[in-house]
Amino acid sequence: MAKAKVAFYWCASCGGCEEAVIDLNEDILKVVDAVDIVFWPVALDFKYKDIEAMKDGEIAVSFINGAIRNSEQEEIVKLLRKKSGLVVAFGSCSHLGGIPGLANFHDREAILTRSYETAPTVVNPDRILPQLSTKMPEGELTLPEFSETVKALDQVIDVDYYLPGCAPPADLIMGAVTAILEGNLPEKGSVLAPEKSLCGDCPRGEKKPEKLVMKDVKRVHEIIPDPEKCFLEEGLICLGPATRSGCDSRCIKANMPCRGCFGPTKEVRDQGAKMASAIASILGLEGEEEFSEEKAAEIVNKIADPAGTFYRFSLPSSLLRTRKRE
Ligand code: SF4
Ligand code: SF4
Ligand code: SF4
Repeated sequence: MAKAKVAFYWCASCGGCEEAVIDLNEDILKVVDAVDIVFWPVALDFKYKDIEAMKDGEIAVSFINGAIRNSEQEEIVKLLRKKSGLVVAFGSCSHLGGIPGLANFHDREAILTRSYETAPTVVNPDRILPQLSTKMPEGELTLPEFSETVKALDQVIDVDYYLPGCAPPADLIMGAVTAILEGNLPEKGSVLAPEKSLCGDCPRGEKKPEKLVMKDVKRVHEIIPDPEKCFLEEGLICLGPATRSGCDSRCIKANMPCRGCFGPTKEVRDQGAKMASAIASILGLEGEEEFSEEKAAEIVNKIADPAGTFYRFSLPSSLLRTRKRE
């Protein structure tokens, strides 16, 4: 029997999701044994025309990581969508917009100006910016168009499943591959990770006091957290209450608060808003006598980069989406 054809593709990505595939270690041999990889530009020499030559739906599944930042990425994911039975958004950037999505706090012009003119290491006295088309003696050179905003994959094409995480852990990847090969998949649109929040899975959750109060806000470099206590109790922002579980609490176990890379659970529409509201309630802003408004404001002002903290992985897919609405 012919093996299922599988494609991997990266868009606006740091390369960590591609590493996560390699990090399957010996399990990658099981994957290679079970499927026929027909496209994986970062590792193997396939061309776009190889995909164009395929029949619609011929690829069983395309795993696409990274956010959508330019016209080439839009074009290729649309091509992969056409040629694939299933598309899986692989990793936080593809699932939610991820770290590249933080660029949506700035517009396109500001990003290009910073990158090509004002960044301290730039030397560009003629203020040359990338051009879509440049005539050279050898012919015309073209570049993909840098889009106005960063998008999550499902803002560009229809997505069947989501593998969360920055990057997705090996056990979830293998679980997804196995489920796809066995045809044992949940309903379309599912995130292939547990539904409960990270707090429900966290080894520190049981030790949380019944009435959790956050009396101060601290940054991770300011204290060495007590590994027995909830980070919020210690004044460190931990996105566990607004984040899906399934990562085996990997940051928490390394004594670092959660940054939210698994995205929100099904019940949460906006991860950042949910987290801001969770913090507001434990800061005592809702009826705690011991906090004056001034004291509360002083504490809130200690949250460095609140928008970047609460929407670190989810800005493009949040209700805010961008600094300026499209
Ligand atoms: S999800 Fe994380 S590891 Fe994957 S591409 Fe984005 S930043 Fe990199
Ligand atoms: S807030 Fe963070 S440390 Fe506290 S229980 Fe939730 S995940 Fe664990
Ligand atoms: S603890 Fe949070 S940031 Fe760390 S891997 Fe898990 S979901 Fe991602």
